[in-house]
Amino acid sequence: MQDIKELDLKGLEERLLFLGAPKYHARSIFDWIYRKGVSDFGKMSNLSASLRKELAEEFKILGIRELSRQESADKTAKFLFRLEDSNLVEAVIIPMKRRLQGSGDSRSFTGCISSQAGCKFACGFCASGMKGFRRNLTRGEILDQVFYLKNGVSGGNLTNIVFMGTGEPFDNYDNVLSAVRLINSPSGFNIGARRITISTCGIIPGIEKLAKEDLQVELSISLHAADDKLRSKLMPVNKKYPLADLIRCCREYIAKTNRQVTFEYILIKDINSDPASARRLVSLLKGLRLAKVNLIPANFLPELKIESPERLQVNFFKECLTEAGLEVTLRKERGQDIDAACGQLRLKYENC
Ligand code: SF4
Repeated sequence: MQDIKELDLKGLEERLLFLGAPKYHARSIFDWIYRKGVSDFGKMSNLSASLRKELAEEFKILGIRELSRQESADKTAKFLFRLEDSNLVEAVIIPMKRRLQGSGDSRSFTGCISSQAGCKFACGFCASGMKGFRRNLTRGEILDQVFYLKNGVSGGNLTNIVFMGTGEPFDNYDNVLSAVRLINSPSGFNIGARRITISTCGIIPGIEKLAKEDLQVELSISLHAADDKLRSKLMPVNKKYPLADLIRCCREYIAKTNRQVTFEYILIKDINSDPASARRLVSLLKGLRLAKVNLIPANFLPELKIESPERLQVNFFKECLTEAGLEVTLRKERGQDIDAACGQLRLKYENC
């Protein structure tokens, strides 16, 4: 059975014509799925009973199944999904500030989603790479996560999407970009491009390709070290795409798109959080227009013996960057009481 989310509007119009139905129903079906969050053709009440039956025989709407959920005291929640071939992927939902909505107010949410089952890149601080790579997710499986988080969890208030779950998005470029277009499309999930972030471990050809797309999405680079020796140890991908080439590529990306690049830097105790590391980071990024650093105190990851430095050290590191004129944010620690680090929940499940 085909995943209907693999089809764009035009593709669905063509399929409807093939089924002998008017093509204008495609907009209606998109509206039921992406706006109203309906995952059952039987509930699409403005379609004829015979068309609903035919659609149900031809297509599925939602292919993933929630296997496990962990909720943090801060309302961050992590989900483990089973794909139809039994592979497992994770997604996280993070509550943001309250926003006013008419007379009342409600929370909005960021969804952190996966692009691959497993990962080839074996970063030393990440549980996702520990079991190796399984396969790319299809566009439909990527959209399934958005659908589930939006309708099953956030009460429709999913306003931001980050590709920071399992996998390297640029290693599954076509499916990720195709999903991003649907997430952004007014006839799809209608989430603004600037509210969609693609995070890469530094795949230079992917960054170059993204610079040529007509999409205003945010780009974020996992940096985590400012010298090649340590970065290659933490992130083996650095041997292929070393820092000088990566920073040159980012400079060209910024010049071409005039868009900000965020450098993610996980602060790990006794590894990359000392004053000398901060100075190296300053000299690497100084002068790079529109660059921002996002500091992330590491989640405790016993499997990899990783923990966050003391709060004092985190603040000192941040101060060093700020004083040197870099734009810096410190990510609020989320989900400390659950297995919120990338891949941790899947790992725990598979080790059971
Ligand atoms: S951090 Fe990203 S690229 Fe690195 S192993 Fe984890 S999922 Fe893969």
